Amino acid sequence: MRIVLAEPSRIGLRLMTQILTEGGHEVLPFNDGAVALECLHGDETVDVLMTSFEVPNVSGLELCWEARLIANGRRPIYVIAMSSTHDRDRLIEALDSGADDFITKPPVPAELFARLRAAERMTKASRELLRLATVDTLTELPNRRAFFDRAGAVMLRRENDPPVSVLMFDIDHFKRVNDTWGHDVGDAVLTAVAEVVRTRAGHPARLGGEEFALLLDGWDMLDAYHEAERLRLAVQALVIPVPGSTLSVTISIGVAEHVCGQTVDQVLKQADIALYAAKTSGRNRVVAAHSTSKPHEETGFAEASEPAQTIYLAC
Ligand code: GH3
Ligand code: MG
Ligand code: MG
Repeated sequence: MRIVLAEPSRIGLRLMTQILTEGGHEVLPFNDGAVALECLHGDETVDVLMTSFEVPNVSGLELCWEARLIANGRRPIYVIAMSSTHDRDRLIEALDSGADDFITKPPVPAELFARLRAAERMTKASRELLRLATVDTLTELPNRRAFFDRAGAVMLRRENDPPVSVLMFDIDHFKRVNDTWGHDVGDAVLTAVAEVVRTRAGHPARLGGEEFALLLDGWDMLDAYHEAERLRLAVQALVIPVPGSTLSVTISIGVAEHVCGQTVDQVLKQADIALYAAKTSGRNRVVAAHSTSKPHEETGFAEASEPAQTIYLAC
């Protein structure tokens, strides 16, 4: 496992690093709490934090707490507090501060390795739970929740930050595929379309059913429109084998650009309005939301099947 080890004594740090390395673990040793914390935040591959209480700058308890906050987010970190005393109050404090386990120093190697095996089981299970909560099991694309998390973070952008656009797309007449070829072929089509979008720019997700989204971070409306057009053609070019024949599908796409202050829901709504316009104007086409803030007055829907030539940046 990849372990951040925070220990104030240089000798202790060296000894622990040696034990852990000989046990097959990868150790990132620190005698400064602030630097250890920086590593926890910056290195997504850390599995375990092992910390003493008396670490300078950021204390061991604070490290436990910070690691717990990270672990409650999107990646598991197993936290082991270390102390040279058998102080019960300290143990309680450590567990209340987010530690999963507690060992005394200097550790007995066999006991330490057994505890790390338990840590490995826990982090593996947590990782799988996180995966199941954020990944669509059929296509292996991020799911709706993961899309909202990522887009939400990106859309905290400020005025003058790079633009962000969203595509929302839906397979045309997909029900016919199911009705004609059966649900399994429908699933194969969904997987094939997911593969196309996965290999292209941006962060795709399956929002549900035969509806997908693509987050284009750094793309303005016009560039996003052109990318949508390329995506539409790539899906159209797919040849999907079915028993005794082949099958092709098309998609309709709505494009919207984020305006500072808008929520993910609001941008998706704009893209959805444009998608609806793409469907009602004939399918197999891309429609850009005209202005990201104003749908058509009478219909409530974006109008054109042309790319937006004027980009309204309300930021
Ligand atoms: P439109 O062009 O207007 O989008 O028509 P459509 O037929 O694609 O849309 P509609 O909403 O009528 O039908 C969508 C179908 O997608 C109905 C539903 O059974 C099917 N579907 C949803 N999720 C899955 C899935 O995971 N696998 C399969 N095979 N079908 C699915
Ligand atoms: Mg559809
Ligand atoms: Mg649909």
